[in-house]
Amino acid sequence: MTALNRPVGRRLLLAMGALALTGGCTHAGHAAPKSAKPSGSPHPPPSTPSPSPSASPTPWQVPTPVTPTPGVCPVDPNFIQKPGGPQHYLPCEGTNIALTIDDGPDPEWTPRVLALLAHYKIPATFCMIGRRAAANPKLVAAVVEAGHHIANHTFTHPLNLPGLPPAQINDELNRATDAISTASGGHRPTLFRAPGGNWSPAVLDACAAAGMRPLDWSVDPRDWSRPGVPHIVQTILTRTRPGSIILNHDGGGNRQQTIEALTIALPRLLDAGYHFTQP
Ligand SMILES: [Zn+2]
Repeated sequence: MTALNRPVGRRLLLAMGALALTGGCTHAGHAAPKSAKPSGSPHPPPSTPSPSPSASPTPWQVPTPVTPTPGVCPVDPNFIQKPGGPQHYLPCEGTNIALTIDDGPDPEWTPRVLALLAHYKIPATFCMIGRRAAANPKLVAAVVEAGHHIANHTFTHPLNLPGLPPAQINDELNRATDAISTASGGHRPTLFRAPGGNWSPAVLDACAAAGMRPLDWSVDPRDWSRPGVPHIVQTILTRTRPGSIILNHDGGGNRQQTIEALTIALPRLLDAGYHFTQP
């Protein structure tokens, strides 16, 4: 539940970013996506999926992602990160993208996401809610041991974070860092993501005061709303460009659609030539 009450300004920014992406990409390699490789992929799905959506043909069209080109960055530099604002894109190297997983850890879904990422050797950034980290310390440790990053996603996930008194905003950030640090044996997040992407000057000030960088995203399939596996897959595969930061969730409810969608989308992004990095 991270996308409620989104400021109009943010929607405009994302819309402008989408326009910049679609309008600014002129490289021939992007105009001619390579054909899909449903069989013979160097990145086959897990042998024991749970369950495997690839076990039977999908009744809907799986898009072919834009082919990235090393050294070619279609993202307008102005949209990578506004001065003083949150980071929407990675500094582009041509093929790098990032996967972020929000609202966990969750006893049921986090292990399944971890298994999927281990199978494809994909590093991700888990934006954890502090009180869930405190309740599931072994999952926090497992995420760190697997080589993933952990970002601070507040202690209680208040979607109205900008409306809280400054002292309470600081408390949300500091309690989450303490919970994550305690559970992980000392790992202190250097990245912070506001719930729902609801940023304000006060939230950004608190983030800076806590020594963290503000992290947003650029590809949002709204998987938290369970829009259906096809919607999640199609959004990820049609909107991802070099430098994209993709948002998904391992907490906040039943994430079966997310698991199934990532099982389809992740190998296709790898096959297209993308490399997953961390913000
Ligand atoms: Zn969230």
